[in-house]
Amino acid sequence: MHETSLVLSMCAQIRELAQKEGAQGVATITVRIGELAGVEFEAFSFAFEVYKKQDPFFAQAHLKIEKVPARLRCLLCGHETQAQGLTPCPACGQWGLEPITGKELDLLKVELILPEEGKDHV
Ligand SMILES: [Zn+2]
Repeated sequence: MHETSLVLSMCAQIRELAQKEGAQGVATITVRIGELAGVEFEAFSFAFEVYKKQDPFFAQAHLKIEKVPARLRCLLCGHETQAQGLTPCPACGQWGLEPITGKELDLLKVELILPEEGKDHV
């Protein structure tokens, strides 16, 4: 299940960023994953749920996944389609569809839990 290693590297990246900001934890994580990225959305969320139980820094974090549908363009006639699986071009019938979206795997946004201002200066 490579989703686990994706979650681990994502969390390592977030932790680094969060520590630079002096954050106490992570509130929300938004990722964008394309249908063709080779990632199982369910497995990815599950791996994250498992991970956050082990790491207090992420205990309160809420994961949002933005799914990007696959869009394909035909190399031969330029027709664009939202195909499921391997299909020939619906317009010209040739096998020439190339993905134009759907391979995304991006960390879009991270909301951090920052210490309350002024608390440290009393
Ligand atoms: Zn075509």
